Amino acid sequence: MSLAAFLSQRVVMPHGIEAAAVLVQDGRIFDVVSPDQLPGQISVKDFGEAAILPGLVDSHVHINEPGRTEWEGFRTATRAAAAGGYTLLVDMPLNCLPATTTVDALEAKRKAAIGQCHVDWITWGGVVSDNQEHIEGLASAGVPGFKCFLIHPGIDGFTMVNERELRAALPHVAKTGLPLLVHAELPEPVDAATRRLAQADWSKYAPYLESRPDEAELSAIQLMISLCREYHFRLHIVHLATSQALDMLRAAKSEGLPVSVETCPHYLHLSSEKIPDGQTLFKCAPPIRSQENCEKLWQGLREGVIDLVATDHSPCPPEMKRLGGRNFRTAWGGISSLSLALPVMWTEACGRGFTLADIARWMAEGPARLAGCESRKGRIAKDFDADFVVFEPEAEFIATEDRLFYRHRVSPYWGARLRGVVKATYLRGNCVFADGKFPGEPCGLEFRR
Ligand SMILES: [Zn+2]
Repeated sequence: MSLAAFLSQRVVMPHGIEAAAVLVQDGRIFDVVSPDQLPGQISVKDFGEAAILPGLVDSHVHINEPGRTEWEGFRTATRAAAAGGYTLLVDMPLNCLPATTTVDALEAKRKAAIGQCHVDWITWGGVVSDNQEHIEGLASAGVPGFKCFLIHPGIDGFTMVNERELRAALPHVAKTGLPLLVHAELPEPVDAATRRLAQADWSKYAPYLESRPDEAELSAIQLMISLCREYHFRLHIVHLATSQALDMLRAAKSEGLPVSVETCPHYLHLSSEKIPDGQTLFKCAPPIRSQENCEKLWQGLREGVIDLVATDHSPCPPEMKRLGGRNFRTAWGGISSLSLALPVMWTEACGRGFTLADIARWMAEGPARLAGCESRKGRIAKDFDADFVVFEPEAEFIATEDRLFYRHRVSPYWGARLRGVVKATYLRGNCVFADGKFPGEPCGLEFRR
């Protein structure tokens, strides 16, 4: 492939945002030069004032294929990702059948993905109650790390782990040197609160919020930090929802423990006070908490206690959201947001004085590092994959169904006015999304180190 140049007045790079030309050859970034150093005789795409950010990396997505493709799937999830500016998805090991807890299951997933993906992908392996002997094999077979649940994951077939089972798994995890991603809520506080709420009106959001108290997250995180100290494995807390854990996490980090933390766009944009009765589209676990809590999570990002933002895109068929039944107790918990996460984040971030460089750090570089892809993904820099998103930060739009692109186009963001429009997405130099369309055949591949 010959040399091509992508020009913008605002190229978002690790050291700052400046006018630059990104030179691309054979799917990689050959160099980044100032616009006046553009070599002659090459094809130039000039995006003007639209920003070029690194292709976003989502380290927390439930693709659900093979086995529950009616919930989502490689084709639809990666299409929504391309429309949202993502160029690499890291799949969660549950909800698919078989769950990704053995090498055989990993191979089944690889087979299912072939020829379907609009962006690159990779998958976490699962740590469940009885697969300790598969952990090192999964690492050798190429997973970038592992995911476990300390509470029932809402679906059978992917078992949660208790402390005894964790202690059996952790020496194997530590040996791989790969991170363990933890859904950090303990069941006891949730069970106790739920018992107290037996007679509550579950068409309201308040009982659901009360049934998943901060205490469930706090006790789980405390347990994981002490196990991290004991077993010396890389601990990653997924979808932190309670700001009350920030002090504990800050202290663990200053102690030098290898702990990283993520939160999600919905915890940073939505708040419990504004969730209408019966609107189960807002249900997720841990739950969306108060506006005050939301502000403190932003503070956690500002201080760097929270390292990254991932979507936890977790779709289901609309009937499982029980929209008609308006019941927060029985509805599936999970929020789909792949196509909107960047504008949702930018809407909130720009008003708080953050820049697109912060967005790139939280949504590209940070997740790429977690998933072990940081030498090729998540930055606009020489020798990296030519993955980028062309983004108009001043443009605004209303979130409507036709912008979602995942399989079941339901969303708690419907009707929201959002800031920033994804104009185009490039994967290894190929345009995979532009102005609402997906040109070319799916060319996404599994990321292999
Ligand atoms: Zn999840």
